Amino acid sequence: MGLLLFIVLHWYLSLFFQSVFHHRYAAHNLFSMSPRWEKVFFVSCFLTQGSSYISARTYGIMHRLHHTFTDTENDPHSPHYSANFFAMMLDTRNSYNDIHIGKVVSGDAYTKNLPVWDSFEKFAHNWVTRVAWGIIYLIIYMQLATHWWMYLFLPLTLAMGAFQGIMINWWAHKFGYRNFSVDNTSKNILPVDLLFWGEAYHNNHHKFPGRPNNAVKWFEIDFGYLSMYVLQKLHVIKMN
Ligand SMILES: [Zn+2]
Ligand SMILES: [Zn+2]
Repeated sequence: MGLLLFIVLHWYLSLFFQSVFHHRYAAHNLFSMSPRWEKVFFVSCFLTQGSSYISARTYGIMHRLHHTFTDTENDPHSPHYSANFFAMMLDTRNSYNDIHIGKVVSGDAYTKNLPVWDSFEKFAHNWVTRVAWGIIYLIIYMQLATHWWMYLFLPLTLAMGAFQGIMINWWAHKFGYRNFSVDNTSKNILPVDLLFWGEAYHNNHHKFPGRPNNAVKWFEIDFGYLSMYVLQKLHVIKMN
């Protein structure tokens, strides 16, 4: 029970930062915040994503490339150019690494207004730190697991951020329903998106990438947007 709670909490906290900090703030500039709050987001993102910590700057560039080159061979992650889910995970990791080390040259539109904290990422975004997180997770599992099969969730814990990104980008360009006809394969995965924090409304998002609320139909609820609404009320962020 304890381990299940840990996995669920880890899922939603990691997802919150990928959806709100990486996707909506870094890639799409849907809200602004003070440099101090931005640093709080960086550190909290590191604490929740742990071994699968993703750089907001690199994510931002990669995601902007996805919007421009959706479903083409220049798309950094397209299920139509990867053989299966895990192949796409590897392909995306390669695209991510190439962007991270500056191998992919992209124009101003891709690199402007991105959150950057190089000195912090030197510490947070390296293999020693990732392995240290792996050891911490193993200790948590050893404390909380009550059956051997519970360790089968360890790979998910270790690569949480990557799994979540790929789940959305794989499923939402393959399976689901469409509210809008767009010139790409984007779909909404779930009619009620309890699992992906509003990111499952991917067809709505491709239609209106500048809209803070991904929900369109009456039955769609975007928890990512609701959390932004609360953060705005608390004067942490300001939606643009
Ligand atoms: Zn997409
Ligand atoms: Zn987007």
